[in-house]
Amino acid sequence: MKKLIRNGTIITASEYCRADLLIEDGKIACIGTNIGDEADVKIDAQDKLIFPGGIDAHVHMNVPCSDGSVSAGYDTETMAAAIGGTTTILDYVLQEYGKSMQESIDGASALAVNQAAVDYGFHVIVTNPDAQTIAEIEDLIPSGITSFKLFMANDLALDDQQLLKFMEELARLGGLACVHAENGAIIAYLQNKHRQKKQLEPYYHFQSRPLSSENEAINRAITLAKTADCAMLVAHVSNLEGVKIITGARASTPIYIESCPHYLVLDDEEYGQGEFTTAKYVISPPLRSKEEKEKLWVGIKNKAIDIISSDHNGFNYATHKQLGKEDYTRIPNGGPGIEQRFTLMYHALTERGIDLSRFVDLIATKPAKIFGLFPQKGTIAPGSDADLVIFDPELEWTITAKEQQQASDYTPYEGLRMKGGVAKVLLRGEVIVDAGKYVGKPGDGKFIARQTLRSQNGKV
Ligand SMILES: [Zn+2]
Repeated sequence: MKKLIRNGTIITASEYCRADLLIEDGKIACIGTNIGDEADVKIDAQDKLIFPGGIDAHVHMNVPCSDGSVSAGYDTETMAAAIGGTTTILDYVLQEYGKSMQESIDGASALAVNQAAVDYGFHVIVTNPDAQTIAEIEDLIPSGITSFKLFMANDLALDDQQLLKFMEELARLGGLACVHAENGAIIAYLQNKHRQKKQLEPYYHFQSRPLSSENEAINRAITLAKTADCAMLVAHVSNLEGVKIITGARASTPIYIESCPHYLVLDDEEYGQGEFTTAKYVISPPLRSKEEKEKLWVGIKNKAIDIISSDHNGFNYATHKQLGKEDYTRIPNGGPGIEQRFTLMYHALTERGIDLSRFVDLIATKPAKIFGLFPQKGTIAPGSDADLVIFDPELEWTITAKEQQQASDYTPYEGLRMKGGVAKVLLRGEVIVDAGKYVGKPGDGKFIARQTLRSQNGKV
């Protein structure tokens, strides 16, 4: 089966070119201006941009809540990813209480195999870093699960010795540590203070997680990663000072920076005192001030920030978020964004006059490189999977919860006007989104075994 996409403008992390693109057996066969006209299917991309499919390296599916319910799963959320221009997701699978990492992966895998509308891989959130769990790393890495999330705060926090021990083993085997960097002690101290004063509304979530807490933990994570000589990605960095701490430390050990759309387009004005709707924005780290948001753009412009991920959690306001009605510390942390990440970042970057190659690097190419998917994913080149977004730069639309595909009953981006939108999405050469509608088949998404940075020769 041959497909020809004609007359589009192809944009990669390094160049723009007006060319035709031939797809054969799900892969990009050739790109050029004179590649003939023979194909079973022809797609006209006149006046459209062609991007590599988005890679969202930080999403959470089926997150357990305190009442036994779970957040939205692969069925609705991977379809939402597809509609939004994302063709590969990396899900943070929680190591369940009393289970091995492998058993937890098996549980996620059994769901994804029948439900996933886009390709997927897994990281593990390590909750029990005992000797048995550490021994599992050696088996998981060759099976394509090469990155592991280590929490420094919240219920899942590991202490410094546990972090160091885990990082040492990752370093030995070429794995990547992804850290949630916040200082658990500062947060617990402030939460207790709030509790004593009966300050339990969601506004105080934001008050309990200051910049200092994030940046202290970033510093400590770097110290630990350097001690263990372990490659690390600092997840969801929310502020420029944090970015600078990391860039200043990068020389000897590879340390990567992830940020998220919400830190770049929203700010702490969402945190109204006395309003429970603030619970929609209970995420960690929290949104920062308007000034901090503006400063964070420096890290986008100067290329210090490597990747942008959604940190998607498909929670509902009417159910999940209400669990913290009496006490903000019980509000599930996180919000939905898998569907909006791609276009939101396209819109925000073009509005600020930032080059589209930078956009591609942040949302597809660099995530593919850091997480061992490159060059199969993350670029448009002969031999790569034909994961493509045909994008209409003139399409104007508004983000609303009512019209989104993702299951949540709200979006943090309600009412934002977008210029530019997804027209078609191809996953390994098959059209899975057409005119904004999902036209694929759940289960079309495949598990992608990932390489380590080392097997990629450390090239990022
Ligand atoms: Zn997360």
